[in-house]
Amino acid sequence: MKTILLLEDERALNLGLTCDLELENYRVCSAFTIAQGRRIFRKEKIDLVLLDRSLPDGDGILFCREIKKERNIPVIFLTARDMEEDEIAGFDCGADDYITKPFKVPILHRRIQAALRRAEAEELCYDDGHLVIDFKRLTAALGGKSLALTPTEYRLLRLLIANEKTVMTKRLLLEKL
Ligand code: CA
Repeated sequence: MKTILLLEDERALNLGLTCDLELENYRVCSAFTIAQGRRIFRKEKIDLVLLDRSLPDGDGILFCREIKKERNIPVIFLTARDMEEDEIAGFDCGADDYITKPFKVPILHRRIQAALRRAEAEELCYDDGHLVIDFKRLTAALGGKSLALTPTEYRLLRLLIANEKTVMTKRLLLEKL
């Protein structure tokens, strides 16, 4: 089950969307302020963030930057602002999609599904131009030359890539493997 962090300060919209997404089999952590959202983001394993732009304690864009610095998970903006420069600002901070209120719920569902699918596909492949790893087929090549890796080595590489911004200690790696 995928977990969505919903950060929206309009109470009725927040509650309505929470019910709705739960019916679609998502686990929803809902928050009304950036401070609450930040706490949840640090504690829970969030797969996708639905983020309002104007929140009581700041602009969603700042929180989006914070999220993207820590983990590369999809962020979809929900916003009443529909001016072009707002949309561009949303994408500049790394947002994956931008939905203008009022929106149709089935459309939101499709956008969430698409963002999650893209994230999953990205997670299964790594390519920095030199090292190419396909975690689905378990193939790897360095500078065009294929590498023979063991399943444990694939798991280890996947873990390191997924946590590229974190220092992984030996103990942490052993725990996760
Ligand atoms: Ca708002």
